[in-house]
Amino acid sequence: MKSLQMVGSFQKGKTKLDVSIQHECLPNLLPLEIWLSIATMVASNSIKDLFNMQASCRLFASACNSDTVYKHALVSVLPIACFLDYFGRPAMTFLRRCAKARNPAAMLRVGMSHLFWCGHRRSGIQTLTEAAELGDMEACYISAMLLLLLGDKTDDEIRRGFKFFGVVCEFGAVERCREVLMQVFAGPWSDIPPVDPEEPVSCRSGSCRTRGTIDDASDLSSVSCVQCLAEYEVRKFLGTSKPQ
Ligand SMILES: [Zn+2]
Repeated sequence: MKSLQMVGSFQKGKTKLDVSIQHECLPNLLPLEIWLSIATMVASNSIKDLFNMQASCRLFASACNSDTVYKHALVSVLPIACFLDYFGRPAMTFLRRCAKARNPAAMLRVGMSHLFWCGHRRSGIQTLTEAAELGDMEACYISAMLLLLLGDKTDDEIRRGFKFFGVVCEFGAVERCREVLMQVFAGPWSDIPPVDPEEPVSCRSGSCRTRGTIDDASDLSSVSCVQCLAEYEVRKFLGTSKPQ
């Protein structure tokens, strides 16, 4: 009640024009945090709508210019190798900004460009595994393949490789991810090998009954060992990523 009275007395001294301007001004309708959540929702539905919102007024521009918004922007609709088209264009700045805000789909795309386009192997794999940790499914798949294929891999990298592959299996996304990545590697960078496969990893489980027995004729649905499935997938991935 007290605050209402204060508003009333505050407005008394104003002209009619001032009051109407005050009401039309968007910041007075909702606090900035609400505009921020609206911008986040817009961004998570459409990048184009986000850009339109950003361009419409100063308030929206500042609401859109936030890590939360960039983190949730719907980057997953862009092709994984989109930087091949975006290189040196403003869209790449947007993608990098999203990746910096820890948008998993943007991190996947930026990591792929570091790894395969710029040849920054370690930093590329680092970005890809971070995207995988944040739950991006394609990042889990490619991270698993790369970690299990590294020539100088450590025990910890092998453990993480199996872990990421386990996530992809759990979501039943192995074939979809393989197809998506196969298309990526069929692109203009197909001459660049993903890694030098010196020593493909093999199942390390002591109690495994399928170790060393899986081939193309095997019924994979009856294999319960994630390490054996990962070993098989690595061979499959090499076959698809480096067409003979
Ligand atoms: Zn096994």
